[in-house]
Amino acid sequence: AAPLAIVRGTGAAADRGIVMRTGEAFQTFRLVTRIVLDKTGTLTQGRPTVRTVDALDGDTDGLLAVAAGAEGPSEHPLARAVVTAARERGLIVPTAEEFASVTGSGVRATVHGREVLVGQPAFLTDNGLDLTAVTGRVDQLQAAGHTVIVVAVAGTVEGLIALGDEVRADAAEAVARMRAVGMDPVLVTGDNERAARRVADQLGISQVRAGVRPEGKAEIVRELQADGTRVAMVGDGINDAPALMQADVGVAAGGGTDIAVESADIVLLRDEVTAVLDAREISDRSYRRTR
Ligand code: ADP
Ligand code: MG
Repeated sequence: AAPLAIVRGTGAAADRGIVMRTGEAFQTFRLVTRIVLDKTGTLTQGRPTVRTVDALDGDTDGLLAVAAGAEGPSEHPLARAVVTAARERGLIVPTAEEFASVTGSGVRATVHGREVLVGQPAFLTDNGLDLTAVTGRVDQLQAAGHTVIVVAVAGTVEGLIALGDEVRADAAEAVARMRAVGMDPVLVTGDNERAARRVADQLGISQVRAGVRPEGKAEIVRELQADGTRVAMVGDGINDAPALMQADVGVAAGGGTDIAVESADIVLLRDEVTAVLDAREISDRSYRRTR
């Protein structure tokens, strides 16, 4: 775009809480026909809360306390929700002695000298754990739209925690407007298929890719680009960074993590999905004005 268009557009964007970080963002956004949308923290508020705690031995407080100890050092919204729930119940949260997080999967920690794994069911299965005792319950809670994380201590599954997250108030309107301007939405998430479908159905999105690893999100963007399609990606997390960089236009959603912001062409400072449409409109207008 001509420099003057960019200067004008940058001002208009700033007025609406949008930071255009690259000139490319202006030139390309109006040509985008596919838009990949992260679920958690982008289409949903990203503030999950604990809804159900199930312990196989009946000690739900004990399970929640151990899980909170393992999740203590993690900044993941699910981890914060587990810690908050434990504190709200007045539990003493133990300090993890060792800790490692596996992005898009869960955490591995040592609590009270025992190895604790907390994460999505596939993460525990991959680590050799037998999930038979909780599978029925996991299915049931996922079918109800929950994100379910399983807790194992010293090599044995001890129970699960189900969390829920609200869809953003303007997400349905934003998706409808994306379609109206010719951007076909695809929902992509590391979360389970059923929770993903539930959000997609609420928003009128038919294309869903669930259980996707962080590298997988970038791979999906690349696949969509293969025939020359211009693809935008909207995400907020560490796990979205590779896809934001791969996309023709990467958009960091409101409240995005530092890594998402650094990987994006456009940064939304407003906590609203419709800000994506404003950014596109500004790109469209500032470009057309110079023609
Ligand atoms: P999304 O793509 O929806 O933003 P993530 O890629 O961050 O989600 O995570 C995918 C899944 O991995 C989550 O739904 C959860 O099951 C699991 N997970 C990731 N981080 C954690 C954590 N700290 N504790 C428990 N589970 C986690
Ligand atoms: Mg996210």
